[in-house]
Amino acid sequence: VALMQRERAWVEIDLAALSDNVQQILSLLSPRTELMAVVKADAYGHGAVTVSQTALQAGATWLGVATIPEGIELREAGIAAPILVLGATHTAEQIRAIAHWQLQPTLCTPKQALVYSEAVDHRASLPVHIKLDTGMSRLGTAWQEAVEFVQLVQRLPNLAIASIYSHLATADDLDPTVLRQQQQRYEAALCACGFDPHAPTPTSPRFHLANSAATLVDSSLHYDLVRTGLILYGLYPADHLKDRVNLKPVLQVKARVTQVKMLRPGTGVSYGYKFICDRKTHLAVIGIGYADGIPRNLSNKMTALVHGQRVPQIGAITMDQLMLDVSQIPAVQEGDVVTLLGHEGNQQISADDWAGLLGTISWEILCSFKHRLPRVAV
Ligand code: PLP
Repeated sequence: VALMQRERAWVEIDLAALSDNVQQILSLLSPRTELMAVVKADAYGHGAVTVSQTALQAGATWLGVATIPEGIELREAGIAAPILVLGATHTAEQIRAIAHWQLQPTLCTPKQALVYSEAVDHRASLPVHIKLDTGMSRLGTAWQEAVEFVQLVQRLPNLAIASIYSHLATADDLDPTVLRQQQQRYEAALCACGFDPHAPTPTSPRFHLANSAATLVDSSLHYDLVRTGLILYGLYPADHLKDRVNLKPVLQVKARVTQVKMLRPGTGVSYGYKFICDRKTHLAVIGIGYADGIPRNLSNKMTALVHGQRVPQIGAITMDQLMLDVSQIPAVQEGDVVTLLGHEGNQQISADDWAGLLGTISWEILCSFKHRLPRVAV
């Protein structure tokens, strides 16, 4: 199977670009601030183990996952760095796995803290991370109730508060009102607990709030740790945040031409004849489809790069194949490599382009490529 990695279709992962992106992010951080590489969802589709190893080598010191199995995958690969599980975990089995694999849980409620304390060895000192809801309305205890929550966990002898954190809802908005309101709530909650987030002591927990967008906005949001996903992978959370760092996309999607043919004017292409040739058309069949993660809604909308030139996709995208109009490139032949997402020469097709065509966000595009596509590190 390894020999067949580039036979049909694959995802190329540029590890040098990933390392460069880590360097770019580190250049924004003061010595106080560490970098957590958010590698949940198989590192946003890039392959969690390889991405984690590369990001750690380049200077990240923490990893963030959403689920326990994601954390176990990294431990089984021999990764020793601290791993924060960002999602909620409750059951006895989950808590046993957290302790066994030395993962660090997020505690979202006082009840969850009590469940943990009951389940964990009484002589242990399990590092836990307290999650406050400062306005995202997702996981966490309301920031106004931070004092009771923090004091409860401080009293539980077998849990040690490693950090107190929150998550931002609108850090990529041009209007900073909600971002600053969340920051004020976060800082107010910490102050009420007796902490100064801008002057930590050796015994205070870590404080962290920033995702990719907030990491780019300004250093007052960095505290002890920034939790970056998207910018590691070389995409920008918003156009107005593009001037802070020079990022390179890490992922490219490539596939081979499997057949070429000439179609007469008036010929219909693919299921439902959603495309009819209005002239003689040189068609290339490409071995990649929606079962690989190419969204079917891009049918007749997307373009691809062939021999460094941009050509239109035509007809409905099918499960395993799609068709390109390569009339402008007569030399195309079977076996040629086509770039669906990525760059060739000075042409580029980015996850942002697809997100724009589909009315979604680049995060979702990155996560959409299926395991049928081998991840090939270059
Ligand atoms: N922190 C938490 C709690 C998250 O859920 C995520 C991802 O959604 C991130 C950080 C990273 O976000 P981004 O990819 O925008 O950097």
